[in-house]
Amino acid sequence: MDMSRNIDCLTGRHPYFNEEEMEVVDQSVAVAEELVNNHYKLSTSQMAQLNYDVKTSAHLLAREKAEEHFAQIVRYSAKRKGAVLETDTEDFYKICIQDTAILSALKKTTDLCLPPFLLYIVCHELIHIVRFRRFLQNFNAPFAERHAEESRVHGRTHDLLAGKRIEGIRQTLTFFEAWRSDGFGERDV
Ligand SMILES: [Zn+2]
Repeated sequence: MDMSRNIDCLTGRHPYFNEEEMEVVDQSVAVAEELVNNHYKLSTSQMAQLNYDVKTSAHLLAREKAEEHFAQIVRYSAKRKGAVLETDTEDFYKICIQDTAILSALKKTTDLCLPPFLLYIVCHELIHIVRFRRFLQNFNAPFAERHAEESRVHGRTHDLLAGKRIEGIRQTLTFFEAWRSDGFGERDV
């Protein structure tokens, strides 16, 4: 299949992931879940309690799009069936993958490729969610705290992936070096 794509002439932006790239997303999510679950030794019920979903740009609401990020987590509170009290709510996390930001980074940085780059991003977001669920980090923390957490999570993501035999992972880890040291590189993740 021809992987070249037409850039939108008016905006200069890339369109969303194509079918082939969507398959890479599915594979990356499956591998990331396995790596993160093994790393944190999550049981099946603990995994279910993470309560998240992963969606790409084509399936995001306007408020879930943030093209200055590679991905963002949006938290929703869902009332349990028959719930009366406000405390009877369950948090649900939606990992919102931002196709355009990712495709544009890949275009600008030639030695990056999609599978390890997406794998890094999904692992990173899952580690955030594990840490929210374990109350190691508050979703609504003030900026300075979120900033520090961001570099911690990049550090954890690096440690999770660095020793693994994953094609192209070295270039991805190099790309995210700046985020590890100061929390935010050119973009948030
Ligand atoms: Zn992050």
